[in-house]
This record gives sequence, C-alpha cells and structure tokens, in this order.
Amino acid sequence: METAMKEYIEEAEQALLHTYNRYQVVLDRGEGMYLYDTEGKRYLDFMAGIAVFALGYHDPGYDRALKDQIDKLIHTSNYFYNVPAIRAARKIKEISGMDKVFFTNSGTEAVEGALKAAKKYAYLKDGRQDHEIVAMEHSFHGRTMGALAVTGNPAYREPFEPLMGPVRFAAYNDFESLAEQVNEKTCAVILETVQGEGGVHPAGEEYLKRVRALCDERDILLILDEIQCGMGRTGTMFAYQRCGIRPDIVTMAKALTCGVPGGAFAVNKKVAENSLKAGDHGTTYGGNPLAAAAAEAVFARYEELNLLDHVNRVAPYLEEKLDGLAARYDCIKDRRGAGLLQALEFDRPVGEITARALEKGLILINAGSHVIRFVPALVVEKEHIDEMTDILESCIGQ
Ligand SMILES: *Cc1c(COP(=O)(O)O)cnc(C)c1O
Repeated sequence: METAMKEYIEEAEQALLHTYNRYQVVLDRGEGMYLYDTEGKRYLDFMAGIAVFALGYHDPGYDRALKDQIDKLIHTSNYFYNVPAIRAARKIKEISGMDKVFFTNSGTEAVEGALKAAKKYAYLKDGRQDHEIVAMEHSFHGRTMGALAVTGNPAYREPFEPLMGPVRFAAYNDFESLAEQVNEKTCAVILETVQGEGGVHPAGEEYLKRVRALCDERDILLILDEIQCGMGRTGTMFAYQRCGIRPDIVTMAKALTCGVPGGAFAVNKKVAENSLKAGDHGTTYGGNPLAAAAAEAVFARYEELNLLDHVNRVAPYLEEKLDGLAARYDCIKDRRGAGLLQALEFDRPVGEITARALEKGLILINAGSHVIRFVPALVVEKEHIDEMTDILESCIGQ
C-alpha cells in the first residue's frame, strides 16, 4: 500500500527543521497549470512555486533541454568555461541591456553579489570602508546575512543583528524619504521594481526616474531587484523597461531557471570595469551547465511561445476579474499589481480564505497577512483565471 500523505507529513516534521508553516499537502507531480498530491488530488496552481515556474509544469521544450544537458554534462566548476553559461549570459545581456553577468544559485546570492559589487565600486573610488546602502521599508531581498540586512522587515532582521551595515531605510515610492537618507557615504540604493513579499506594490514611473536621476547625479549605484517581478512577469522582460530607465545592477532568479536552482546579477559597463575583479567573488555551482541550460531553455521557450505577448493579452483579464471581485465584496480593500503579479488586499487576515481554497483544489499565496498574491505561470489562460476566481469567490462568500 502507498504511504498516506499524513504519514509523510509526520516523518517530515521529524526530519526537517521547522522553519516553514507548510500546507498539509505532499506534492507529487505537475502538468501545465495543475499540481497533484501523493493521493491524486488535483490543484490549480496560482503560486507557481512562488513566481518561479513561468512555463508551467512539463513544458516539453524545457524538459527536453534539461534531459539533453544531463546526458552531456551537469557540473564543471568555474575553473572552466561552458557553452550553456556563455549562451545564457549573452541572452541576459540582450534582454536586460546590461554589460556583464555573474551566475548564482539563488536570489539571495544574486543580492549578495550585487551588494559586494556596489561596495567594491565605492571602495575603489575613495578607499573608504564606511559606505552606506539605502534600502526600502517592507522590502524583501532574501535570507542570507547581506540580503537580510537590506530587507525592510524588522521581524526578519532583529534576531540576527548586527548584520551588514550601515543600511538606512526609506519609505517606498516616496522620493523625499529616499533623498533624506542619502548622504556622501551612500554607495547604493536597492529596491524591488515591484515589491513582491511586501504586499505587491509597483514603483511609480516618475519615482523611478527621479531615483535614477539622483543616483546619476551623486554617482550612487542603483540596484534593482527583479528576482520576482522580472523575467516577463509584468509584460516586459524586466519591470524597469516599462519606466524607461536602467539600473546599474539588476538581480534575477526565480523564473530565470524555472525550477532548477539558479540566479544571476548583471551589471552595466561602469560597474563591470570598476568593481569585482578576479578573486573578489565566486561560487562552486553558480552558472553550472545544468542551471545555465535551464536558463537558456527558458529564454528559447519565451520566444517560441511569444510569452510576453501572451502576458500582455491575459494580464488585463486577470485584473478585470479581480476588480470584479473587489467591487462585489466589501472585505476587499484594494486590487493592485502589474501584469501577472497581482494582489487583493482584504480587511482581515487571508489565511482562512487560502486554506479553504486549498481544500477546493486551488493553490494561492499570501504577501503579508492581509494580501492574497496572484503569481501564476505565465502560460496561464483565461479559462484558468475563470476557474481560479470562481473557486476564490466561493471561499470569500462563505
Ligand atoms: C524570492 C526573492 C528573493 C530571494 O530569492 P531566493 O532564491 O529565495 O534566495 C530576493 N528578492 C526578491 C524580490 C524575491 O522575491
């Protein structure tokens, strides 16, 4: 007899450090927009592994590319070059408008590298070691010590202080607040072009332009974290492209490799030529042939599927359906977002709603206690959006 899901969960709680409050489900396989647990129950997935699985489960082109690469070569170390990493880096340059790429294994490591690049840039300029970074309140940049230091959620940071410093926090989307935190020691400003974990807040275009101009004026590096909002989720490859600006450093992960662990940061020419040099930074796995082949396959499939056009066609429909819910239910306070990174804010904690949805076969994710976030695979179709909003509505109405 097959092991029951309950037994798996009991064993997991014996073996795994309890750092996550997990849904009481053991997932087994996926197909397109759907996941199945070990007992065969089907779930419509609007979480996509936290904005990761842009292509949906078992995209044939992606799976094929990975299998082919496994048969060739999985790992080499960075003592050597490998073809998938060269091709993936070329593609990242092309889509981002940046000059050089460093591959990592995760988002938080991409942020670590970006911070090191910014510190080195400032150090080479004036030889000082007291440079400051300005980050945003309610931001999320990852769980390792450097990324945590710029994460604007005090509850995540406090037990681990002192972290990398000094970091000053400004209110997001508030230029005056940023200007107050900037001084002659500031080496970088870091922000998410659309805040994800912090409740889904897009940066305003005028705000971003003013931040860019301030950074230019004072030779401060602008780091945009597009780990969640990048890779086409908002309808352009990177969310900053909608605002007509470019950062000095951009971080990416999540959908970049669509499930194989991977990430990257890319820098412009100025930073490429005046920051990290041989010996300054490294990683054993980063950009290994398997992860790089995953990124390469993701880029190829985006083109073959015309995925950006698809996002721009389907995202307004998601907005419209969510606006409809917001109009019908007083408990919904706001609908906001960009492209396929959307949210509904409620007047109460959303845990009960997402739990009920799970029972009814719909996977949702929150972004803070009162916000449901919608981050489906980019291949989502209108019929999935209808199915999702029908189930969600039945959970709100209860
Ligand atoms: C998920 C996320 C990270 C951290 O990425 P990991 O791969 O979990 O380390 C950093 N920044 C943003 C904006 C994210 O959404």
